[in-house]
Amino acid sequence: MARIAILLNDRCHPKECQWECQSYCPPVRMGQECIIEGPIGKPIISETLCIGCGICVHKCPFDAIKILNTPEADETEIVHRYGYNGFRLYRLPLPAPKGIVGLLGPNGTGKSTALRILAGVEVPNLGDYEHPGAWERAVEHFRGTALQSHFQRIARGELRAAIKPQYVDRLADSGQSLGEFVEAAGGDALAALASVSLVGKETRPVAELSGGELQLAAIARTLATEADLYLFDEPSSYLDIVHRLQIARVLRRLGQTKGVLVVEHDLALLDYLADKSHLLYGEEAAFGVISHPLPMRTAINTYLTGYLRDENVRFRTEAIRFTAHPPKPATLRATKVEFGPMEKQYPAFHLRVDGGALPKGETIGIVGPNATGKTTFVKMLAGVEPPTSGSPPPDVTVSYKPQYLKATQAASLRERLVALGSDTQFDVVALERELIPALRLDSVMDVALPDLSGGELQRAAVALSLARRATLYLLDEPSAYLDSDERMNMARLIRRRVEHESATALVVDHDVYFLDLACDGLMVFAPEGPDGRAGRGEGPFAMREGMNRLLRQVEVTFRRDPETLRPRINQEDSVLDREQRAKGEYYYEALA
Ligand code: ADP
Ligand code: ADP
Repeated sequence: MARIAILLNDRCHPKECQWECQSYCPPVRMGQECIIEGPIGKPIISETLCIGCGICVHKCPFDAIKILNTPEADETEIVHRYGYNGFRLYRLPLPAPKGIVGLLGPNGTGKSTALRILAGVEVPNLGDYEHPGAWERAVEHFRGTALQSHFQRIARGELRAAIKPQYVDRLADSGQSLGEFVEAAGGDALAALASVSLVGKETRPVAELSGGELQLAAIARTLATEADLYLFDEPSSYLDIVHRLQIARVLRRLGQTKGVLVVEHDLALLDYLADKSHLLYGEEAAFGVISHPLPMRTAINTYLTGYLRDENVRFRTEAIRFTAHPPKPATLRATKVEFGPMEKQYPAFHLRVDGGALPKGETIGIVGPNATGKTTFVKMLAGVEPPTSGSPPPDVTVSYKPQYLKATQAASLRERLVALGSDTQFDVVALERELIPALRLDSVMDVALPDLSGGELQRAAVALSLARRATLYLLDEPSAYLDSDERMNMARLIRRRVEHESATALVVDHDVYFLDLACDGLMVFAPEGPDGRAGRGEGPFAMREGMNRLLRQVEVTFRRDPETLRPRINQEDSVLDREQRAKGEYYYEALA
């Protein structure tokens, strides 16, 4: 069987190791040049001589090597390849002249690369990484397919594409005001700013915008660009539920006249947004294969089952299942942690939270728009921020994962594991045997924590938080930077762990599927007063009641998919939407 050998360049430090990959390689020991030193002093692993034993993968002290079997795709379908031991992308998504096409798949499988190629920013090399690609060759390669004319237009300089990049935090260096930043696109800046509710903030420097505002600014700039094809790479990051739904409506409107392609990990959002979607399967940083497009409902149901029938590919061993969340009988619900009313006064913000009871073995979500005090509440319970009135419950052991993570220790996860050793405050056995494998951290055990990607650091932080023995787990936005698979996985893990430990947990998040899988109930935060200078937190409520309260704030209704029981956003003003709103049933109706 042919192999793919991947060297993660940024992790490989050939001056700091003993070249274990080479010295332990069985073919090398037999005298074959399976691993040689390349021109930049890093190893080159021969894919033809490699026997797939995996010894180099285990011996590398920096987790810099991956050896995999080739995917179930034809080598002639390679569209782009970054180097000999580099990532390779098979096939491309197909943008339509009108309507919204989704792209759903794991991190590091080539979604951004595909968008850059379709936008005409990156020239595909069709696998020939030794020579720069040329658009004429792409036209030739895709002759007879729908992409041929797309590449012809790029080759002739006729395609106008606007791209909303994935990493909006990098835009903060622009040195412009928000107004200048959006006006630079050349189109109707005011209309674009209005559509994402940023009017009135034009004079603010881009460098001072919050993450959510930066995302909205980047979306506004893309909307203000006159183009034929619009590409949005993860538009929901940093946005709260209200803004996610708002941009969904804006993009749907755009899709009525233009071609739009969207990469998105929030499944409820993607489901609502796109008309059809490609699924991606593959291995992070190694390869990605883009499926044929599927109608949106089928795409997500297929994604959840983990089996792509058309191509006979299983990309997950276990299906993801939703339940209808019948409330547990009162007799089974013992209180684990009780808290009294608390208030916090900041110079420009006042938060009031009702007292409540957190049930034993249950995970409670915290939902609401940004800047309503969710993080402040969690910090008060964690003992990080003192309340102005009231106090957090005494004698409760808390494990807290903050919203913003910063790896302060240069140690790797393996070193942290060893250091925890016999610390009785941690369940080290669960960390090693359950949490690390479940969060797929095995392959980054030797990487220094500051060198982990955003998603890896998030998973490591959650693993360490859940390993602490605690009565109350506080997790602030654990789904940030994760792909859909990782979100669903983590949701189930949090739920299982909290149940098993008979603890209780509060989880702040904005992803409805994540919340639906992880939570038994919800606390709901809302702005109070006309100027957004106060917030109010209530609950916990049962899931349905909590979602009802949240969705009433944004006038959006959900139904459940009859086949998978997953929640689906109703189209605005559809029959179901109108019926449910009239009844005040914003969530879950229509199963009867
Ligand atoms: P996704 O958007 O699905 O997260 P990307 O398209 O950003 O995936 O990247 C896929 C993989 O390609 C990355 O994991 C990385 O290993 C590799 N890659 C991306 N850009 C480059 C580049 N400029 N040079 C070399 N490798 C790259
Ligand atoms: P959420 O988690 O719902 O987004 P936060 O609790 O982070 O809300 O913030 C609520 C409000 O409190 C915001 O308007 C924020 O500016 C303000 N705030 C948060 N922390 C501080 C602080 N340390 N000093 C002053 N104001 C703060």
